[in-house]
Order: sequence, then C-alpha cells, then structure tokens
Amino acid sequence: MTITTTSSGAVRLAHLDAHTYRDWVTSGHATVILPAGAFEQHGPHLPLGTDATLSTTIAETVGRQTGAKVAEPFTYGYKSQQKSGGGNHLPGTVSLDAEALVAMTRNLVTGFLGQGIQNLVILNGHYENYQFLYEGVDLALRDLGLGSDAEQCVLLLSYWDFVSDTTLGAVYPDGFPGWDIEHGGVLETSLMLHLRPELVDMGRAVSHPPADLPRFDRLPVVPGRTPATGCLSAPDGSDAVKGQLLFDQVVADLSQEISAELGLSPARDKEVLATP
Ligand code: ZN
Ligand code: MN
Repeated sequence: MTITTTSSGAVRLAHLDAHTYRDWVTSGHATVILPAGAFEQHGPHLPLGTDATLSTTIAETVGRQTGAKVAEPFTYGYKSQQKSGGGNHLPGTVSLDAEALVAMTRNLVTGFLGQGIQNLVILNGHYENYQFLYEGVDLALRDLGLGSDAEQCVLLLSYWDFVSDTTLGAVYPDGFPGWDIEHGGVLETSLMLHLRPELVDMGRAVSHPPADLPRFDRLPVVPGRTPATGCLSAPDGSDAVKGQLLFDQVVADLSQEISAELGLSPARDKEVLATP
C-alpha cells in the first residue's frame, strides 16, 4: 500500500491524477467544493483577486477538515454593483454577464454530478454572484432530472453568512455596517492580512465614512456616489488578529455544518484513497 502525495494529500482536485479521481468518485461519497470569486477593484490597499483568494483559501481549509476536495475557482464573477461592490465602471473590475456565470455554473454542476460526485458545495466570496450561481444549479438539476428524492445534492453559501454574532461583536466593536457595504472594509482586509499579508498595503489604506447610497439603484450609475477609494466602508481597525478570528470561526462552523448536512468523514475518505 502506497500513499502518495497526489492521492492522499491533495486538497485541490486539479492536483489529482485521473485514476485517483475516478476511484474517489466511485467511492460514492465524494464531495467537491467550488469556490466563486470575482476580478474586482478593492480600493488602493487590496488586490483585485481578493474575493476568489478568500473563497478558495476558506474552501481549501474546509476541504482538509472534512475530506472534501476543491475544484478550480471561478476567478471572474457577476458585475460589481454600486451598492455592494462600488460598481462595474471602476478600473480593475472585469466581470461576466449573468448568462455567462449561469452557463458556467450549469456546465460544472452538470459535469461533476453527471460523473458521480455525490455532493457539490459552491462557496461564494463575491456578493453579486449569489442568485446567478443559484440559477445555474437549478438549471443543472433540471438537466440531470434530479428531484428532491435524489441522493446527490448541491449546497450554495456565501462565507460571510457563517460569521457568528460573537465574532461580529469582536471585529466591529463600534457597530456592524452590513455585508453589502463590506467591500474593501474590515472583513476582507483583516482576512487578507491574516492569509496573504504580502498582497496588502495598509500604507495605502484610506479612512473615510461608510458609503451613503440611495435605497434605489440608478442606471447608468452616478460614479461620484461611490467613495473615491472604491471601498464602500473603510478598512479602519483591520488587523491580522481579527482576520484569524474570522477565518478560524468561519472555517470551523462551515466545516461542522456541511459535515453534518452531508455526512462527511475525513477519516473514511483517507481510507478510500489509501486503498491500492
Ligand atoms: Zn470583495
Ligand atoms: Mn466582491
């Protein structure tokens, strides 16, 4: 019996060889996590790939804890909107039309479930993606003829929905601004300072009040309504300690909830992969 790095250690699906993948799928309890992000400006202090970096890193850690494997992420996402991402007009934001994201999601869900993957978990890291991921999943299940009696399933989630009230209180001692305007703010900046500090330049971070946007969307957008930084709330008070608190708590709760929902067992998964 030989356990190689590629068969037992890899958390990224793309690092498996085809025969290991085939054996894993036919074990009957293969779970794939598909991270979704965006290519989007996040102000002067964070990289354009922030959303995909965060969803992919969370997915990899959840994968190691649950025995799930991580598919290559969506690194482009649905259009940034002024009230949640600053707007699609800003330099550095390059986005997909809804049809494209729905089609990509539909194709991958059909592909993975069609090959016998038991569960697919779509782990979203870009606010505007959610309903289009949902639509892609729904159309794929219809294509596959999977109804509520099916054994295969898809879970869809955005990682910030797993931040607990206790963590929120610790990260936002002066009050929580809301997830929609958490763009380039304390959550993303702290997580990036914990996970990828070499990609963050706090010397370029700018302090400003949270964006004050109308309750309606106006199209075309009025560019001046987005704060000049491109962030909808300032990263004031961000640090790696808050990032670690957020990351560890979200990963723990996410791992626990999807394991309970899907009956995942990392030990069993290792056994299957180690069988020659
Ligand atoms: Zn973001
Ligand atoms: Mn985003």
